[in-house]
Amino acid sequence: MVPYKSDWKPVKVPHVETKHRRIVTLIPVPESEPMFTALESYEPRSMATQVPVVWGRAEGFQVYDAYGNCWIDFTSGILVANIGHAHPQVCEALSRQIKGKLLHSYLFATEVRAKLVKKLVEISPSNLRKVFLLSTGSEAIECAIKLARLYGLQKNPRKTVLVSFTGSFHGRTMGAQMLCSADDHKDWITSLDPDIHQIPFPRCCECPWGREKYEDCGKECLEKGLAQLLKKGVNLARISAFVVEGYQSVRGPIFFPNDYMKALREWADAYQALVIVDEIQSGFGRTGKLFAYGHYRIDADLVCCGKGISSSLPLSAVLGRAEIMDIPAPGYMTSTHTGNPVCCIAALASLEVLEKENLVAAAAGKGQVLQTKLLQLQKRHPKRINMVSGRGLVYGLFLVRPKTGEPDVQLGDQLVIKAVQKGLMLFITGNGSVKICPPLMISKEALVEGVDVLEEALDECLTEEGP
Ligand code: PMP
Repeated sequence: MVPYKSDWKPVKVPHVETKHRRIVTLIPVPESEPMFTALESYEPRSMATQVPVVWGRAEGFQVYDAYGNCWIDFTSGILVANIGHAHPQVCEALSRQIKGKLLHSYLFATEVRAKLVKKLVEISPSNLRKVFLLSTGSEAIECAIKLARLYGLQKNPRKTVLVSFTGSFHGRTMGAQMLCSADDHKDWITSLDPDIHQIPFPRCCECPWGREKYEDCGKECLEKGLAQLLKKGVNLARISAFVVEGYQSVRGPIFFPNDYMKALREWADAYQALVIVDEIQSGFGRTGKLFAYGHYRIDADLVCCGKGISSSLPLSAVLGRAEIMDIPAPGYMTSTHTGNPVCCIAALASLEVLEKENLVAAAAGKGQVLQTKLLQLQKRHPKRINMVSGRGLVYGLFLVRPKTGEPDVQLGDQLVIKAVQKGLMLFITGNGSVKICPPLMISKEALVEGVDVLEEALDECLTEEGP
């Protein structure tokens, strides 16, 4: 169960003082209570889902409060601060932009927007020739839905079917929500789009077809999923696009098997359907590749980006093949804050840092260290950690109840709170998994220290739980 703010009472926790962490107060800090009370009073309760800390400042791989405490950040502010929080180059670029007094422009041309779109296309796979800038990840998904529909309608007035995956997450706006997993909060949508369908995600650890182990079954798995659609009466030739996450993020990261993606690409080509990749969470180096779909060695037709694109300010983007991106006529696809100059300068500076500091390769290298440490932890607690999954600097630990093997949501939540009390910033997933996703610039020393803290916290949680 996710803790609610009013339940939080300041507790005495051991003092921590290391090179990277400092905990010197009760947690939550008593002085922070009025802030939690205000947030709880004036925000909807859907916001009441995180840890009992009021962030004061975040720099590099560390988060600070205003009371002398400091955490190693294993969240990147939930997969945003890929290059690190408040990178000096980003801050400097932002100051320049603000001093230059150009804070908004909408459709009017700016130099910074021109530079950013050029840069994005230059660093992306060569078939992605155009980019449309937006503000949020969900907005990028809505835009991709529209482009896919328009693309399908050009071919055939009935080519309007979109196919996504069970267990997937694409955002909270209506179209994005409809692409999400069937069981993901769709009850408020009174008329679900009849042309949006999910097929089983090839989650091999819980094979949707009951297989015990993986046997190059990617193509077969896709065919079985499509056969389910046929059975529901969907004419497969009506599929205009598949929407896939770079990796499945909820109860993840879980990657697609390569040959599944190869089969998907081949099928899409044969049926003139698009492959849209949601890289909102997985992009910009997180997995040790610029985009996670780079691991699958396939082309994408449209790529939705957000979060790590700027490592800071709200900016998202749809990258795509020119002939798809140019389908909407002038004025048909707009958004007031498209290419906001302040957001653009932050994204531009962030991409420059990503390249200059070689952070994509760094994520791949440090990912090896992280994987080794997490596998060692699993070895110590094989009955409680049933899987360690990830690549680069995004990993998930999957906690289970020893007797039933069901996700241990309570242990997951407790572990996160305990780690936070020790100076390791994590976020609550509410599903029994713990996600580890530090900024890509974290030092190896801090990465190792962070996993050691996680281990200490898990040991304590299990001791408190008793036999
Ligand atoms: N897709 C994925 C894979 C995401 O992780 C998210 C955000 N968690 C979104 C879409 C939606 O992005 P936003 O919250 O910026 O709308």
